[in-house]
Formats: sequence, C-alpha cells, structure tokens
Amino acid sequence: MPATFKAAVLSEFKTPIVLREFPLPQSTEPGGALVRIQMAGVCGTDVHLWKGQLPIPRPNILGHETVGIIEQCGVALEQDWRGVPLQKGDRVTWSSSLACGHCFYCKEKRQPTRCLNRKAYGISYNCDEPPHCNGGYAEFIYLRPGSAIFKLDDQLTTERVIGAGCALVTAIHGIERMGLNWGDVVVIQGAGPVGLAALAVALNHGASRVILIGGPEERLKTARRFGAAECLNIEHFPSAERRIQRVRELTRGHGADAVIECVGSPEVVPEALEMCRDGAKFLVLGHYGDAGEVSINPHVITRKQLQLHGSWGSEHRHMAQALEFLASQGGRFPFEELVTHRFPLDRVMEAIETTQKWQSTKSVVVP
Ligand SMILES: [Zn+2]
Ligand SMILES: [Zn+2]
Repeated sequence: MPATFKAAVLSEFKTPIVLREFPLPQSTEPGGALVRIQMAGVCGTDVHLWKGQLPIPRPNILGHETVGIIEQCGVALEQDWRGVPLQKGDRVTWSSSLACGHCFYCKEKRQPTRCLNRKAYGISYNCDEPPHCNGGYAEFIYLRPGSAIFKLDDQLTTERVIGAGCALVTAIHGIERMGLNWGDVVVIQGAGPVGLAALAVALNHGASRVILIGGPEERLKTARRFGAAECLNIEHFPSAERRIQRVRELTRGHGADAVIECVGSPEVVPEALEMCRDGAKFLVLGHYGDAGEVSINPHVITRKQLQLHGSWGSEHRHMAQALEFLASQGGRFPFEELVTHRFPLDRVMEAIETTQKWQSTKSVVVP
C-alpha cells in the first residue's frame, strides 16, 4: 500500500479545488474497508456545496457517487449490505450516507434520511482529520464500519452505476414518498440527472405519459430515448405561462396527475402548482441546496386539494433497488450514456464547472 494518497480538496467555498496529499490509513477497523476509487460522479449537489449553500466542514473532499475496488477488508466484513460475500478485489459501490440507527428519526419514526447524527461521504467530513479519505474525488476512500457496501455484478458497468448516480436513488425515494397511481400523467420539471432518473422511475411505476420540461436539446434527446411522451424545450417555451398552457393542452385542460420538481430553482414551484390538476400530487425533489424563497398563493393548494411532498436523500434499501433496476432495465434506460465528460483528479474544478454550466449531462472524475 502507498504511504499517501492524492485528493481534490475544497478548502473554502467558491475558491478553486486543488490537489493535496494525505497519509493513507495503513490498517482497517473491523467492519471497515479501504477502497481504491475507479470513478466518481459529479452531482448537482457538488455545485451547491462548492458555492456554500449547505454548511459543510472544510477542508473537504467532495464526491458522493462512487465506484471502486476493495483494497483492504477489515475483519468481520465478509458480506455486503445484502449478504453477498465480499472480499479484497471486489468492485463495489456504497450508500453515501450513514445513519446512527438509534435516534428519534432512525428508531421511532423510521425516517433514517433525517437521522439526527447523519453523516455522508463527500459531504460531512473534515479531511484534515484521520482517516482523511472521506470523499470520492480521491485515489482512495476509507469506508467506516456500518457503511452500506454493495458488490457490483460483472455485467453492471461502472459507467452505468455512476451515470445513474445519486439521482436514481433520490428519484426512487422521492417517488416512493409521493406515490404514483398506475396510468398517471406526470410532469417532470428539469432534464438533469434527477429529472431523467425520475422519468425512468415514473415510467417503471406505471405512468402512462411523462411530459418533461427542460433543456438543452441534448438532454431532451436522452429523455425521448428513455420514453418521455413529450419534451418541452425551455428555449422554445421560455415563459411559465406558455409552459402551463402547453401542459394543459396535453392533459385535456385539466393538468397533470403528478408534478415532480427536479430543477432546484424556487421560481418553478408556483408554476408547478398551476400544472397540477385538482387533487394532484406535487413532489419537490430538486432543492438540495437552499436556493432561497419564492412567493406562492396557498389558496391554490386548498382550492385544488393538492398533496405536497418533499424527499431528502435515500435509504440503503433504495441503493439495493437501484442496482436491481439498473441490472434488469439495461436496454430500456441506458444510464451509462449520461456520462458525457471525464476528468482526471487534478481537473475536478473543471468537472464541477461543466456541471454548473450545463455543458455536460454527467461529468465524472477518473482518478
Ligand atoms: Zn448527489
Ligand atoms: Zn439516527
């Protein structure tokens, strides 16, 4: 094992991410694992984190969608989260989050995504503190005891897992919370990874038609290939009024059965309420960063009898479901095609910039 490892480090918000070297842990606790990183995806949340929209410790190694090879297995780590045998040399992914299992939300309310002691790789750890390697934009990561590790089948490619990324588990959890009825007409706001994943999950849940609103054209092409019935390019539909009108035209004047927000901009929320039919459901899924306030008219919610839902992160079981889905729905939803831009470790800043400027569908870091 090398004595040190390189990582891309965020020292301060809105300043360049630079390469640093840290001591590599030379031993592994029981239940822990040291993993050599193969690929880490750049998520929209990384852009929000870089900007300082969530209060994370610094310096920090970002990167929370990751695949790697086990270099060292701690004693007692013999199986993955599902019970599949695990050993050195296995290719794995893992849930970025760790829940404590004994707090009010973990135990009493069965809502571990809101665990009072929740931690997440690539988000919650100061990399100046041992074991240093806590994020995906690095050569190694140390998975602590209690991490939910998943061995990957050979036919499930790294590109496919990273292409789906945290967007897929986010969409699975969100749609589970909101619930969809078979035959629902669904509007999805946003054509980024979360929007495309929500499209795949909604169709798999029995949505009859999905109308997706977003851009640029390249992403809408992917949306059509995934099975979107209609894509509204925001360049051609630049005003909320026109978009609302088009959704009503496509739903016999009533509006959609469900609207899923995957944009992260507050101004799309009042628009979504207008796209809902009476009694519809609305899921706010894209606001991981605090992007500020927007004014809405609560009368619309009461009069239309709307159901509003929120969803934060995902549980380990959603990762198990996501991997099953990726393995069985291979041809239908080619998530690997979302990976459009690759960057080495010393160019993580560029990877985040291409994501921020919507130049890539999915940027990845290959250490
Ligand atoms: Zn993410
Ligand atoms: Zn907890």
